[in-house]
Amino acid sequence: MQIINPATEEIITELPEDSQESIQEKLASLRKGQKEWAKKPVEERLEVIIQFGELVKANKEELAFVLTSETGKPIAQSRNEVNGSLNRIEHLKTNALKWLATETVATGDVTESIAYEPLGVIANISAWNFPYNVGYNVFLYAIVAGNAVLYKPSEFATLTGMNFKELLHQAGVPENVFDVAIGTGQVGQYLLDADLDGYFFTGSYKTGVHIAKSVAHKLVPVQLELGGKDPLYVMDDIADIKQAAINAAEGAFYNNGQSCCAVERIYVQDKIYDEFVKHFVEEVKSYPMGDPTEDATFTGPLTRAQQVEVILEQLNDSIQKGAKILLGGDQPEGPGYYLNPTVVVDTNHEMELMKEESFGPVIGIQKVNTDAEALELMQDTPYGLTAAIYSTDEARAKALLDEMNVGTVYWNCCDRVSPNTPWSGRKNSGLGSTLSSQGIRAFTQPKSYQMRG
Ligand code: NDP
Repeated sequence: MQIINPATEEIITELPEDSQESIQEKLASLRKGQKEWAKKPVEERLEVIIQFGELVKANKEELAFVLTSETGKPIAQSRNEVNGSLNRIEHLKTNALKWLATETVATGDVTESIAYEPLGVIANISAWNFPYNVGYNVFLYAIVAGNAVLYKPSEFATLTGMNFKELLHQAGVPENVFDVAIGTGQVGQYLLDADLDGYFFTGSYKTGVHIAKSVAHKLVPVQLELGGKDPLYVMDDIADIKQAAINAAEGAFYNNGQSCCAVERIYVQDKIYDEFVKHFVEEVKSYPMGDPTEDATFTGPLTRAQQVEVILEQLNDSIQKGAKILLGGDQPEGPGYYLNPTVVVDTNHEMELMKEESFGPVIGIQKVNTDAEALELMQDTPYGLTAAIYSTDEARAKALLDEMNVGTVYWNCCDRVSPNTPWSGRKNSGLGSTLSSQGIRAFTQPKSYQMRG
């Protein structure tokens, strides 16, 4: 398998892919390791993950550089991710013991309690866009809960996956408790065919449905963290229109729009529409684009060449249906999977741009008159990951957010994930939750003890 640098299109390295046989060998070893690992106290398992965090800190620069080289993520954003994702470890430090402890729920003639046992050996099939964040949400929590993990990084974040393995083992996670499956979607398929005790997936709706169907007969837990078409609505009572535009632009264009909870469509009330659009375009114009290894770069290449085509087709469709491109819409000269940050106005819901996930540096902005109209448009999607509203009036914003059928709602913020609250998608955005107390328990199965004595 070739690992390509998306900024230069050069081959970084070539790696042998796993085969069905090598996956079976890894699984047999993990099966043995998990039994021993589960016997260790939670404190000991947690301590190893804390050590892993220390190693990540010590190697931050090198890890960030590897992430940038294989995904094209600008280096400042890679550093942010390597650093920021450590908050998962802080969350585990504060909460794991509490949520993994056995609970006594009734005493008397019969003592009744609930023990939270690990699932066993789980598959973590992961995405490339935020491999630290979405990887940690699964494998760190699973390891602390006493599971063994077979981690399948996306082929576009393989070197980062190999770094996880090296540092986890250095920190004291036994080699037969965490292993990595190297390869493309075909290797992911081997995991679906194999005998695992849970499937934890981050990726597209299409692959998520395929996974759920493929493993349904095993009757093991399946969690799916999938895509979104997340709306942001700016109400006309907003005090600082410019600041709202700056925040919305960052929500749309951070990591080149390749975030599951990126702002993917914006609705603005007519009274402030022109001013909002003016500030928004100014802000996006100011983003330095170029070599992702440069500290100042905000916009690098897309990670995957094929996504450039997907976005250009969406743009073509919207222009044919009457939209206007205010900025971008084309590719710069030279190598790399670059696309100029693109702002589209005069959009409507006949356009793919407002309905299908773009997962790139493009945004459609639509004018609305009333809150009711905004709500209807925000809900007009098969996805249900997040929704954001900017307004000075909390009650007015919350009335709409309460109606939204999504996993996370934001007032005066967007595109953010906290380990303290569940991360979950509704409708085509997924199934199950990571993070929070729910994300700790997600890697366990309850056992009921009813003890008379
Ligand atoms: P894909 O669904 O294409 O890939 C995700 C993972 O599944 C990769 O490891 C991929 O391997 C693997 N895979 C592909 N085919 C199969 C198969 N047949 N069987 C098993 N595994 C398979 O997702 P993308 O790479 O397109 O990731 C982007 C998507 O992820 C977006 O929709 C984004 O919104 C979503 N996402 C959701 C998040 C959330 O928390 N809700 C967070 C981050 C991203 P390979 O890459 O090697 O082909």
